[in-house]
Amino acid sequence: MTRRQCTGEYKIKPIKKKVRELLGYPYPTRVPKGVFVDQWVGISTDEFHRAKDADVKYMRNRHPLIDMGWSRIDCVRYLTGLGLAGTPKSSCLGCPFHGNAQWRHIRDTSPSEWADVVAFDAAIRNGNARANAAGQRLLGEAFLHRSRVPLDQAPIDHVTAAERAALQQGPGAADAEELEQGVADGCSPWACRGEVGPVQDDFGLAS
Ligand code: SF4
Repeated sequence: MTRRQCTGEYKIKPIKKKVRELLGYPYPTRVPKGVFVDQWVGISTDEFHRAKDADVKYMRNRHPLIDMGWSRIDCVRYLTGLGLAGTPKSSCLGCPFHGNAQWRHIRDTSPSEWADVVAFDAAIRNGNARANAAGQRLLGEAFLHRSRVPLDQAPIDHVTAAERAALQQGPGAADAEELEQGVADGCSPWACRGEVGPVQDDFGLAS
């Protein structure tokens, strides 16, 4: 897995931008001390370790599911009661942490979204255009599927011999469940799938 900026670029930056706008202090205006929003983040009790504070003072993270003592099963039961059975964990369409089941689901249920992720996979082959232009070229090629095969040809219907061999590599290696179902965690701005280091705040820290 190479360095990725998806959480920072697609989630945290737009959220901060919108929050600043809602508060009436768009970047680079300084947000006064004591002015903040409550932001509700849907982390359930079984992922308690992923509940984190925001990295700016104008946003305070709250975790209502944890406050109510709700686990993932409680959420599924509640959604099922509302006629929303089968609600999947949240993640982006073209997430590199998807397992084969998620890729098949997109391919088999939504041709337009499948075309979109296949095109996205092709577009990332040579890395990030901005980084390349800045001289930080990707060494090798990038792929969405862990087989490092273009997505529309990747083995998403079966586990390959190479993947089976990788399964034998002991602690830290992907297991069969992860190959099929992807990384277990869902994605939230402050607790991304596969975890991420501190994200650069391009909208200024409030104080
Ligand atoms: S769901 Fe996947 S692609 Fe989307 S922000 Fe999280 S890790 Fe990145």
